[in-house]
Amino acid sequence: MDLKLSSQLASDAARTAVDGVLGPPIAGWDGGERDAGDHRVARAGAGVHGERHRLIAVLHAVQDREGWISPGATNYIAQRLDVAPAEIYGVASFYALFALRERPARTVHVCVDLACRMVGSDEASVPIGAHPSPCLGLCERAPAALVVEAGEAPRQAVIAPFTAIEVRRVVDGEWPPEEAPAPEATPQVGDASLVLLRRVGRVDPTSLDSYRAYGGYVALRRAFDIGPTSVIREVLDSKLVGRGGAAFPAGRKWDAVARQPVRPHHLVCNADESEPGTFKDRTIMEADPYALIESMTIAAFAAGCEHGWIYLRGEYPRAMRHLQAAIETARARGFLGDDILGSGFSFDVEIFRGAGAYICGEETAIFNSIEGFRGEPRNKPPFPVEVGLFGKPTVVNNVETLVNVLPVVLGGGLAYASIGTEGSAGTKLFGVSGGVVRPGVFEVPFGATLRELIDLAGGLPSGRSLQAVLLGGAAGAFVGPSEIDVPLTFEGTRAIGATLGSGVVMVLDDTVELVPFLQRIAAFFRDESCGQCVPCRVGTVRQEEALARLAAGIRDGEMPLLAEIGQVMKDASICGLGQTAHNAIESAIVKLGAFAS
Ligand code: SF4
Repeated sequence: MDLKLSSQLASDAARTAVDGVLGPPIAGWDGGERDAGDHRVARAGAGVHGERHRLIAVLHAVQDREGWISPGATNYIAQRLDVAPAEIYGVASFYALFALRERPARTVHVCVDLACRMVGSDEASVPIGAHPSPCLGLCERAPAALVVEAGEAPRQAVIAPFTAIEVRRVVDGEWPPEEAPAPEATPQVGDASLVLLRRVGRVDPTSLDSYRAYGGYVALRRAFDIGPTSVIREVLDSKLVGRGGAAFPAGRKWDAVARQPVRPHHLVCNADESEPGTFKDRTIMEADPYALIESMTIAAFAAGCEHGWIYLRGEYPRAMRHLQAAIETARARGFLGDDILGSGFSFDVEIFRGAGAYICGEETAIFNSIEGFRGEPRNKPPFPVEVGLFGKPTVVNNVETLVNVLPVVLGGGLAYASIGTEGSAGTKLFGVSGGVVRPGVFEVPFGATLRELIDLAGGLPSGRSLQAVLLGGAAGAFVGPSEIDVPLTFEGTRAIGATLGSGVVMVLDDTVELVPFLQRIAAFFRDESCGQCVPCRVGTVRQEEALARLAAGIRDGEMPLLAEIGQVMKDASICGLGQTAHNAIESAIVKLGAFAS
């Protein structure tokens, strides 16, 4: 490509960061020293273009080293990858964790989203020097903050719950103490009936031997014994469906990929949970990382995948550390890599670090992101099982779906299907946050009621009464006190016009002001819309504006307008974000009487 570069040069530190990912440049054409041959031979072409998928990793490296992506660094990346600087700017500006203006090496992100807002963390209360942030996935410890520091040894830390004084001290230079251990997020630790959380809080997440002592890797050996077709049969028999919200049968997805003649097949674990109120996958990755790696290995074996990616939220530093260490240990001990456990099956996993974009929880947006582009969803069909990552058949499952495979393979699909209800098999993880005594991740069989789940979380603090529950997250719906006995199943929630979504149970007591809460939901969707299609890009803005007018008491024609905007987004948006951006607001109006007076 004939690149047009500005005159700014990358600093030595930025060049070193880029070279750390791509290796040193080999010629003047890609940013190295010019030599005589450079005048006649372009050493670019397919070799350089084949590196495009490393763009996000390169941007992370520069951001980690310098705290921002300077124009000089952009020029150097452009040369190294043979991608236009404007294109790199377009990608970098899409992701919230990349800064395109110079700023201090240390950034403190303070969550002002739904759960943290309920305990007083909003835009107006963010300490000077810190930055307001959407949900950080630490809702059980609200209010939460994330500290990111660029430099030669970049580091990240969590402060949760924080006080304004603590944040102020960190902004001024102190480093926060080590965060509380992960089991704090799982109040059920030790409960013998747990299936998915049975090891959490007991196993040492940094030790493969500890994982094996708690039954780790028995399921993989059984999978190798029975073969890929039987593994898929067990998963089909189990009636396991995806836990990310769409509830598509996992066995059908694996089977569809396994049957594709095109090679290679890929596996992507969606670990980008960014829905406000969702933190269950984080808990598993932090506290039981080998379970995810074993599950992915089984899924890959069944569907014939050669390589796996964990698309991990960039805001999960502890999950990143634990998973990275677990992958390296598993590889060193023969549980990943060539000829796993002498089975003849080869598979490896890498972590792809997300960069702060809610839409990258959408499966095709993940593909674009891994390939080095803006995380914009693709039109379907073709579906990922036929044309997915790098154009190849791809299985995409989220963390919770994958770890369900261990009990399915161990105990058999039919035994698994006997848990729960006819239409919703197995157990389900819920992230309970907001106005309860013991917020955290809870595991219950499908069919437990919302009331039982809230009781498990200690109920509401004394003196408080229930106003509503936001079920399924910002893309879900409100449930009123009269619906509190709804069974938590796909069919039960559907019957009352709600959804389980990603397992969010956010409890609003009588002290929560509903209208600002709704305005925050609208602001979230406006901010997170990728902007690719008009109904969502414009609709989310207009929805937020209409809510602002309603909040200010302007009612003339606003309710019909709001309903119309919601309908257009639902009918005409490309992906689930736009299609669900009005759901919670609509349910608040219909069920809770928002703006009725
Ligand atoms: Fe992007 Fe929204 Fe359209 Fe989805 S619905 S593709 S998020 S603009």
